[in-house]
Amino acid sequence: MKFLKLSVILFAAAGLSCGRGKTERPPIIDMHMHAYSLAEGSASPENPVTGQPSLSQTTAELREASLAALAHYNIVKACISGPPETVAQWRTAAPDRVLVGAYVDENNPLPDLATLRADILAGRVHVLGELVLQHIGMAPDDPRLEPYYALAEELDIPVAIHTGYGPPGTPYLPGLRGFRVTLGNPALVEEVLVHHPRLRVYLMHGGAPYLQETKVILSVYPQVYLDLATIDWILPRQEFHNYLHELMVAGFGKRLLFGSDQMYWPETIGMAIEGIESASFLSEQEKRDIFYNNAVRFLKIERNSR
Ligand SMILES: [Zn+2]
Repeated sequence: MKFLKLSVILFAAAGLSCGRGKTERPPIIDMHMHAYSLAEGSASPENPVTGQPSLSQTTAELREASLAALAHYNIVKACISGPPETVAQWRTAAPDRVLVGAYVDENNPLPDLATLRADILAGRVHVLGELVLQHIGMAPDDPRLEPYYALAEELDIPVAIHTGYGPPGTPYLPGLRGFRVTLGNPALVEEVLVHHPRLRVYLMHGGAPYLQETKVILSVYPQVYLDLATIDWILPRQEFHNYLHELMVAGFGKRLLFGSDQMYWPETIGMAIEGIESASFLSEQEKRDIFYNNAVRFLKIERNSR
């Protein structure tokens, strides 16, 4: 509830200060967001930080509230993944803002390769991911993924790989029994990077808590980027800042990407932004790099997407 009240106050303050509208906020790119559906009539999932249920009751409400948050925070591009039909609705509603990700998790199997190729070539899919491989018991270098990486490398689209944490108790849940902590280790992408040196990979959730493995992957493979999604709002703030500080001290400030991992709670977008804004060890330039400049470079936005 504390966070919800805070976001309302921030929203009101922004409205008062922006006489000419919402564009006075500097632009942000959110590299990690989801277009999920809500089963009507069932209980809304609770925000794991605030304990509050989603304020949205339907899939349409969730989409509208999320797109309103994008506009409010001047999030000019967002990489959205989820069930393909739901993501397509977001894209239709906000074609300039939404970049479509091909989603793979326990409910969304690897897509048909020919269909994926056609979708990429037609501009209907822009990113391969989020690949939530850990949750289906698959390592990032599983041979079944090889043709997908080859396709992404050939067509030069980014690949977004989930790394790090899963929710408490995940391996005990039906459909998720293949989940293993060890499958979230960023070091497992190494063979992929070796075999596909032109692949544009970003590791999601900052690779946390695998700090050492993340640092050495970023160091040895300078093409790899890292999004800070979820850990920027769900971890205790000091733990997140300690982790981010280590990455900055190690010299990776030009490779970090903002992400929210908005799932069912549009307010988490503001919470994630606050996670970066409140890092007192970051300069304003470093914050702009994380929020926007690094993603522009990684996505090749000026060259390809506008
Ligand atoms: Zn993830």
